[in-house]
Amino acid sequence: MEERLDLAPCGYVTISQEGMLIDMNKTFLQMIGFSFDDLSQKHIETIMSKTNQFIFHTYFYPYIRLYGHMEELFLSLQHKDGQSIPVLLNGKKATREGADVIDCVLVSMGKRIGYEQEIRLAKKQLEEAFREKELALSKLEELHEEIEEKQEKLLELNSKLEKLAITDKLTGLKNRRYFHIKLEEMIIQYEQKGQAFSLCLIDIDHFKQVNDTWGHTMGDQVLEQLAKIADLTVRPVDTLLRYGGEEFIVLLPFTNAQQAKNQGERLRQEIEAADWVIGEVTISMGIATYTSEDTHASVVEKADQALYYSKRNGRNRITHIDDL
Ligand code: GH3
Ligand code: MG
Ligand code: MG
Repeated sequence: MEERLDLAPCGYVTISQEGMLIDMNKTFLQMIGFSFDDLSQKHIETIMSKTNQFIFHTYFYPYIRLYGHMEELFLSLQHKDGQSIPVLLNGKKATREGADVIDCVLVSMGKRIGYEQEIRLAKKQLEEAFREKELALSKLEELHEEIEEKQEKLLELNSKLEKLAITDKLTGLKNRRYFHIKLEEMIIQYEQKGQAFSLCLIDIDHFKQVNDTWGHTMGDQVLEQLAKIADLTVRPVDTLLRYGGEEFIVLLPFTNAQQAKNQGERLRQEIEAADWVIGEVTISMGIATYTSEDTHASVVEKADQALYYSKRNGRNRITHIDDL
């Protein structure tokens, strides 16, 4: 065989019409591990597994006979040491020295299969990684939802706590803490828009005696009832608060001194006229209307002075600081 063909970078084999090996190049013999004499005049199927023999028989021969050539037939040959050698076979019918033969070129596919396996493995790993990523993502979404839910609950709880912090437990009215917030708001409205407002400071008369005579529980009930009556009497725009103990405050927006006195007097009368288990309950009141000279502290101080005047002058009455 010509040297170039003998050492070609692929196996080169000539077989007879019946499949007997006639000629083989060195590359093929190296690929398969046999010597020329081992295989010469042996059937090509002797170096194939049973399955490959079957493929060769039922596919290769009929095809070559019909079309005269065959391309890219994938086969596994058996190396002398038993190892399987995957090859790609191209065959072509020829007539040489009066006899029909088949020339075959065999290219080893071991590396390519290795690459394919690597690619398949990489694809599998990629798919797994993708699945894991999807899983992690859905877990993240779940966590996100959980956090949002918890945040919502926290906000709810916060607003409940905020309400609790500004609510008086006994009467359900707003408490002293809220009073300072609300008064500050009203002062700002006054400064920015000139919105007049008044403040009524209310103190129950002789309340110590109520406790002493009827007991503390009855005292509490009086405080609750008084809160209810006052709540029904004040206008919706007003803010009624329990300032502490038996003292209450009403903040009256859009209310000048005269209007505040009218409102205060109405409330005093309602309390006096109400049905009380203990017989009679009266309140004294001090009223101040905010002026440009006032501060947060001074307006409360003025109402307190007016209240003191009401107390000193017989109780069960209202006094506006302007009248002193
Ligand atoms: P005055 O007419 O001068 O206001 O007399 P007073 O007895 O009402 O005044 P004083 O400030 O001496 O007493 C107020 C009483 O209110 C003292 C306290 O025992 C009672 N008191 C304060 N807070 C509560 C409460 O939450 N429940 C009850 N039952 N009593 C309270
Ligand atoms: Mg008091
Ligand atoms: Mg009192």
